[in-house]
Amino acid sequence: MAKKYVRAIFPGSFDPITNGHLDVINRGMKLFDELIIAVGRSPIKNQLFTPKERVEMISELIDKQKMPGVSVESFDGLTVEYAAGKEADVILRGLRSLTDVQYEFQLAMTNRAVAGIETVFIMTSEQYGFTSSTLIREIASLGGDLSNLIPKSIYERLKKRLNK
Ligand code: ADP
Repeated sequence: MAKKYVRAIFPGSFDPITNGHLDVINRGMKLFDELIIAVGRSPIKNQLFTPKERVEMISELIDKQKMPGVSVESFDGLTVEYAAGKEADVILRGLRSLTDVQYEFQLAMTNRAVAGIETVFIMTSEQYGFTSSTLIREIASLGGDLSNLIPKSIYERLKKRLNK
C-alpha cells in the first residue's frame, strides 16, 4: 500500500511559543509529512504579542532550527474551518497533564463531531510538563530566569515588550 501523505495543523495561541510547544513540534515533525503551526487569536486570552509578531518569532525559529516540512501562519475564526481550507488530515495538540486531557478531550470530540477531523495528541517531555505561555508571561514580568523554558530569541523579545 502506498504511504499516505499526512498534513497536520498545530493550532494554538503561542503567545509566546515555549520549549514545550517546540518539543511537540519536533516530535510531530517526525510523524507528519507537513506540519503547519497555526497561530490563532483567542478571544478570551489577553494577548501580549500580535498574531503577526508571533508568526514572525516562530518563523525565525523554524529557519534557525531547520525544521523540514514545518511552516507557520496565522488564522482567524474556527480551527476546523481553517483545517478544512488547508485540507489538513489531522489536528495536532500537545498534552502536559491530566488537566489538559479533560479540556482537550472535549475539544477533540467537538471538532470530530462538527467536522469529522481527527486530533492527534503528543505528550511533552517531563521537563516541560509545567510550562505554559501564561506562566511564562508572568515569570517574565517579574524578571525571573526563563532560559530553560523558552528559546533565547523569544526571551529577548519578551524582555523588550515588558520593559515598554
Ligand atoms: P491554546 O490557547 O489553543 O491552548 P496554546 O498556545 O496555549 O494554545 O497551546 C497550544 C497547544 O500546545 C495546546 O495543545 C497545548 O495543550 C499545547 N501545549 C502548551 N504548552 C505545552 C507544553 N509545555 N508541552 C506540551 N504541549 C503544550
